[in-house]
Amino acid sequence: MHAVGIVAAAGSGLRLGADQPKALVLLGGRPLVRWAVDALRAGGVAEVVVAVPSGERAAFAAALPAEVRLVDGGATRTASVRAALAAAGVDVDAVLVHDAARPLTPPDVVARVLAALAAGAPAVVPVLPVVDTTVLVDAAGAITDAVPRADLRRVQTPQGFDRATLDAAYARLDDAAELTDDAAVVRAHSVPVTTVAGDERAAKITVAHDLALAELLVKR
Ligand code: C5P
Repeated sequence: MHAVGIVAAAGSGLRLGADQPKALVLLGGRPLVRWAVDALRAGGVAEVVVAVPSGERAAFAAALPAEVRLVDGGATRTASVRAALAAAGVDVDAVLVHDAARPLTPPDVVARVLAALAAGAPAVVPVLPVVDTTVLVDAAGAITDAVPRADLRRVQTPQGFDRATLDAAYARLDDAAELTDDAAVVRAHSVPVTTVAGDERAAKITVAHDLALAELLVKR
């Protein structure tokens, strides 16, 4: 199996309150995107393509090893992954799509995703249980129903795919489609998605609090 890693790194730093692309924000002195690329490589993915905000190539090139390929991302995460997928080499038969915003993802998670693909799964995502009571609310915020949490999972990245399956799903996906992950892209075409254990350390950095927590983890 020859796997390529795709890192979605073309988001803004808006919710983080950063004055630069989120993926370039430093954690323990290293840009988030560098952590994400290193996590994929440490987990067994040799080749990596990163989708970056257009106009930011020089800054990302300075933050990453020379062999990492950069492509211009799009206006949505879906468009960014589509652009990076188009740049994957012809000899690639598996794809791992990872968020730059999950810098502290342990290599073990990457290895579990690769192992499930090698065992024949067409699509695999790392997940965690939901520990809080989870409810549905109406427009006014009143609870209308409770959702049995035993059936719920929080979905992380990297998400792994058979390359031909992911290519076909993106080819059939509307250009304007805006999905929050790639499992949703293949599920839209009825591809079964397997789960493996995720890790709390693979949490997504979205707001300043998340970055502060990650800084504490790095210091430890
Ligand atoms: O916005 P959110 O945190 O859900 O983004 C998840 C990942 O998708 C981030 O790593 C971000 O850089 C990436 N992204 C992207 N292109 C966009 C928007 C987000 O690559 N247009």
